[in-house]
Amino acid sequence: MSGRVVIVGAGQAGLQVASSLRQDGFAGSITLIGDEPGLPYQRPPLSKAYMKDGDAARLALKPDSFFARADITYRPMTRVSAIDRLAAEVVLDGGERLGFDHLVLATGARTIRPPLDGLDLPGVHELRGLADARRLRDAMAQARRAVVIGGGFIGLEFASVARAAGLEVTVLEAADRLMGRSITGAMSARFLAAHVADGVDVRLGARALAILGTDRVEGVALDSGVVPADLVLVATGVRPNSELAEAAGLAVANGIVVDADLRTEDPRIFAIGDCANFPSGQERIRLESVQAATDHARHVARAIMGAPAAPYAALPWFWSDQGALKLQIAGLSTGADEIIAQSDEDGAVHSVFAFRDDRLIAVETVNRPGVHIAARKLLGAGVAVTPAALIAAGHDLKALLPPA
Ligand SMILES: Cc1cc2nc3c(=O)[nH]c(=O)nc-3n(C[C@H](O)[C@H](O)[C@H](O)COP(=O)(O)OP(=O)(O)OC[C@H]3O[C@@H](n4cnc5c(N)ncnc54)[C@H](O)[C@@H]3O)c2cc1C
Repeated sequence: MSGRVVIVGAGQAGLQVASSLRQDGFAGSITLIGDEPGLPYQRPPLSKAYMKDGDAARLALKPDSFFARADITYRPMTRVSAIDRLAAEVVLDGGERLGFDHLVLATGARTIRPPLDGLDLPGVHELRGLADARRLRDAMAQARRAVVIGGGFIGLEFASVARAAGLEVTVLEAADRLMGRSITGAMSARFLAAHVADGVDVRLGARALAILGTDRVEGVALDSGVVPADLVLVATGVRPNSELAEAAGLAVANGIVVDADLRTEDPRIFAIGDCANFPSGQERIRLESVQAATDHARHVARAIMGAPAAPYAALPWFWSDQGALKLQIAGLSTGADEIIAQSDEDGAVHSVFAFRDDRLIAVETVNRPGVHIAARKLLGAGVAVTPAALIAAGHDLKALLPPA
């Protein structure tokens, strides 16, 4: 298979599609365009290992030598400003045009900036890219009191690291539980207890009204008063980078709308990773995970290679490291109508099995990698597990796996 593939966005998904194409034997040209400097890198460690050790060298997804070896033209610090679908070209900032036979949009997402006064004060941070992480890490070394706005994965991962580094940390979450978009209530409660035990001041139902300060940040205003801060992390979620697609007349609705093959309505143009809104069963979803970025990319590489189309159906999975706890999630618990939770002797929940219509749809675990892997195998194989079957198996997912 030959032709010209242009990939916009050199993150987890963009790099993977380039690399998978070569692995699958694609003989045409591949151009990977990204607007950030340096080599494509992993984001998950930015709020975990990198925030602790500051070792940026370990973040690169591939060494420099990979690009020449795989004959991939990598253009960092280059922004695509438009897609000319009529000419089948992308337009770069500065006007240069590159023709394509297949175009992959892997433009990721950016941090939501909530409408709060004081967002631009020195000392107020966001965390999406390496440049943000560098600034935040340097600021953490000088700070005494951090306020995190948003009790999602990234905010809580940072809160753990900052607390372990000796800062006073307050987490403000507007909803009534932590990580409420992504995990069950039982698991939220487990993490709330752990953060509180570590000394983090977690405030639920706490909406930030404004960020206060004159020359630099001094605090965050709530209904109930002011929380003092010399560092604020705004971690209230991300928004997909879909403007390029929208300006090119492609459908956009919470991300770039694609079909079960991850194609937009223009058959030459795919969208993958954080920016893609794709079908999942009867619903449409957008995921922000390494798993989705990687599996989407592999699927699209096969589609470009002309492999027979099977709808994209990879099982979502995710992880988050917060203090001593590693949370792993297989499947999506959205819409769960029954939960079975298992706890340690001290009452701390370590596994949650979520069911919908009498069928297991997701498994959340804490520091139980074996259970997580078994859950991925079971859910990935499409095995139907009822609550009764799980109990009969003594909650042992391995016992429910089909024979190899
Ligand atoms: C701090 C942090 C921690 C995370 N932790 C986890 C975790 O523990 N587990 C997990 O599964 N996921 C985690 N994630 C999410 C995961 O990193 C993302 O889901 C993944 O990076 C998505 O890959 P992507 O290629 O779709 O987007 P990105 O990695 O965001 O890459 C998109 C790239 O495209 C570039 N771009 C956008 N528009 C243009 C343009 N017009 N021209 C050129 N370039 C452009 C962007 O600048 C960016 O470099 C984390 C994310 C962050 C920020």
